[in-house]
Amino acid sequence: MKFAFLIHPITSDTQSLFQIDDGGQFRKLWKQASVLEISDYLQSWFAATSNPNRGPGQVRVIDEFTDLYSVNGTVTEGRLYEIPMTATEIKDDPNTAIAHIQRAIEMAQEWGAKIVGLGSMTGVVGGQGAYVAERTSLAVTTGNSLTVYAALENLREACRQLEMDPSQETVAVIGVPGSIASAVARMLAPSVRELILVARQDNLRGRKLAESLDAELLTDIPAAAARAQIIISATSTGACINQADLRRGAVVLDVGVPADVRGRSLERNDVLVISAGLTGVPATMSRDSHVLGFYFGVIPGCLGETINLALEERCENYSLGRDLEPARIREIGQIARRNGFDFSHILSFGQPVADATWANVMKVHAQRRFRASRGPAGHHANGTNGTVHPRATAASERIQSLLRQDRTRLPEIDELATRAETRFARYINPVLAGLGREAGIGATFVRGEGCYLWDEKGRKYLDFVAGFGSVNLGHNHPRVVAAVQEALTRQAPGFIPSGINPYTAALAEKLVSLTPEGLEMVFYCNSGTEAVEAALKLARLASGRPGFLSCDGSYHGKTFGSLSVTSNISYQKPFSPLLPGCESVPYGNAAALREALATRRYGAFIVEPVQGEGGMHLPPADYLQAAERLCRESKTLFIVDEVQTGFGRTGSLFASTAANVRPDLMCLAKSLGGGMMPIGAMLCRGELWREAYGSINTFALHTSTFGGGSLACVAGLAAVNTLVEEDLARNASERGKQLLEGLLQIQADVPEYIREVRGQGLMMGVELTPLTPIVAKHLKRADLMGLLQYLGNSLDDITRNLPAIFQMQMLLKYHGIYAQMTRSHPLVLRVQPPLTITEQQADAFLAAFRKTCTAGQRVENMFDAIISHAIAGDHSKPGRGEAVACNGASSVIP
Ligand code: PMP
Repeated sequence: MKFAFLIHPITSDTQSLFQIDDGGQFRKLWKQASVLEISDYLQSWFAATSNPNRGPGQVRVIDEFTDLYSVNGTVTEGRLYEIPMTATEIKDDPNTAIAHIQRAIEMAQEWGAKIVGLGSMTGVVGGQGAYVAERTSLAVTTGNSLTVYAALENLREACRQLEMDPSQETVAVIGVPGSIASAVARMLAPSVRELILVARQDNLRGRKLAESLDAELLTDIPAAAARAQIIISATSTGACINQADLRRGAVVLDVGVPADVRGRSLERNDVLVISAGLTGVPATMSRDSHVLGFYFGVIPGCLGETINLALEERCENYSLGRDLEPARIREIGQIARRNGFDFSHILSFGQPVADATWANVMKVHAQRRFRASRGPAGHHANGTNGTVHPRATAASERIQSLLRQDRTRLPEIDELATRAETRFARYINPVLAGLGREAGIGATFVRGEGCYLWDEKGRKYLDFVAGFGSVNLGHNHPRVVAAVQEALTRQAPGFIPSGINPYTAALAEKLVSLTPEGLEMVFYCNSGTEAVEAALKLARLASGRPGFLSCDGSYHGKTFGSLSVTSNISYQKPFSPLLPGCESVPYGNAAALREALATRRYGAFIVEPVQGEGGMHLPPADYLQAAERLCRESKTLFIVDEVQTGFGRTGSLFASTAANVRPDLMCLAKSLGGGMMPIGAMLCRGELWREAYGSINTFALHTSTFGGGSLACVAGLAAVNTLVEEDLARNASERGKQLLEGLLQIQADVPEYIREVRGQGLMMGVELTPLTPIVAKHLKRADLMGLLQYLGNSLDDITRNLPAIFQMQMLLKYHGIYAQMTRSHPLVLRVQPPLTITEQQADAFLAAFRKTCTAGQRVENMFDAIISHAIAGDHSKPGRGEAVACNGASSVIP
């Protein structure tokens, strides 16, 4: 069924709905794809509408929408008719406007439209469409019902994000007795604390409405704004609300056309002004329609209503007159939802709300909630005067009773998951989130069990990252969960700095018993980098030498000390100067080490048994032993960083034990927490500890409040016991062999694509071949993955590394495997599953990886072939199915 939709030119009083740049030029009124097509027209439109002396215009068709598919497959088409009068002109001369409207309807009827939607001011004159409807055989709608529905849904969404409860708030509805404002007021009245209606004058209709809703009627907008925390405004006059009059934290839903809130943009960062009454169009439409889909994929509710009625073939009048029926409002809302329209977009002055504004408004609301919970003058809202600290038994009873309640005490996971990406991008790392989204490698995981992760849609993924080695036991290992739960039930003390904690002490003994001979003392912290910091500080005191020696390509963490020995220029340079006296030697080169240590400048040499983040590099077999010997000879302390190699990862409990070396200091973290708790530890020889900290003046020189917290140590004890008792190191060794063999076979099949496969146990990496410079250059130009905006100067690096991104994307998307690259060497794909991985799971990975590598190789060959043909200016390009030789390999262009 065809539809027509009537609009009028947008003048400066409505332009805030759309994005206009500083020069007043039109930038992106419509979806990007159609900008060129209609920009000329829009330019002249603007010129015409801003000329006050222009003569009487004609109704005209300004665009045509074809193939508007709903998500259910129903389809409609429509035309957009322009009335040659601005909003103000329509209001001032409604008779002429109605004549134009009738003319437009005649044109629509001739074209074959069955329903006509009256947009903006065309729906206000003539008794909200009633007059027009009486004079035509077409079905007529003002679209106001969906506008009301959308405004209420926009409010619901804003409240959800700000954790606002309308039943606790004063709400003002501006614009009664207009049809939209009256309907909004009626539908909101039962669920708000206090309702204020604002009319232009004190009239009978307004008073009656206020009385029936038990609301107050005002005629003064600043007075209403001073009291209301939520304002919904739908006047036809426009520009009636001053931003300066709003309360802190106010949320304004501006449904007015022209806009009711004055200004071209949000001028305050403690209020939210929402361009309300808009609806998001389904992806099935925005992609193919040629004008439909305003910027950000949002259209006015009135257009949405017309489209939805046409999609449903409902050739009937809708939303006419002053009194909109709540049942019909809900009905059209449900129809729109079924067809794939959505109402979660929050725009302000036609733009997404700036992240900083969100953050600030959220803060204002958090403060309001906090004040409300305190009640008056420091008294707790529960009336206990803030004096009673519940006794332990009372507390545990309360926990038990909370646990017995059906209602979950955490926010629902669905709720958390839907907002997660936005929150992550807004508050944590917009670049990472953007990269993940654009490159198809981002995922929100809501659950983990064993070797699997689940995303918010319930899709299951094999985890081949294992938290960079922190999840050796798999996610939520039952023994770790049980131990932590038991500790909670026992009410183990949280943190007791300077007190003696039995769990902390027990884990220390356990760690000392399992680590190489000589390590006797334990310092607790919360991460790998802190364990390294602790080792460096202690080594400096115990050795009396300030410098440190590390290896090229090492990774020991990113705090200042650890960063000073993390020999990676791109991480170090932005923060220089770092610790003085830190130097590095090539990894695995004993001769270079001998030479450097002979200078006796270094207090310690720090080394990883396998360089994880550097790209999963193994040193020669006797390197660690040589390093130990050279350190002893030069009286340099020998620090082994087993943060990632520790706890079974390389096929033995510690790589140092397997290499038969005895470090002076050892750094642990990651899987010490059983995949659940953050905990790190630095172990050292007794005499070194005594040298550095063994006196009344020195014993507290290096401390950490959280270090050795009960729950972390309980998880640590359970994790270590499980690793030993279940002999997970052996499984790591066996599965490691299986994976290594399988990967080498894959490499043999795509030798151009995989440069090297290497690793030990389940600490393995696949180094991919970088793109050839010519392919990289062309890909960069095409920016196929939309990465340009996130990468800036690093585009060259990332383009070279695209094969790894491509693998991560394909594994995630098509094979349900979560993979990542190593931090300092992004062409190396980590093969690092939990140590509990089964033979079948390892085979599943190999089968998937074989496919993704073959696909990767094929795509690159294709690019190579196409580009070389283009460069050679060869017009006899290979046809489908023809074999072409490229990169030394033969492939087929599909
Ligand atoms: N040392 C090594 C060997 C590591 O692999 C890492 C982390 N990947 C660290 C130290 C730093 O650990 P964290 O990220 O917990 O600070």
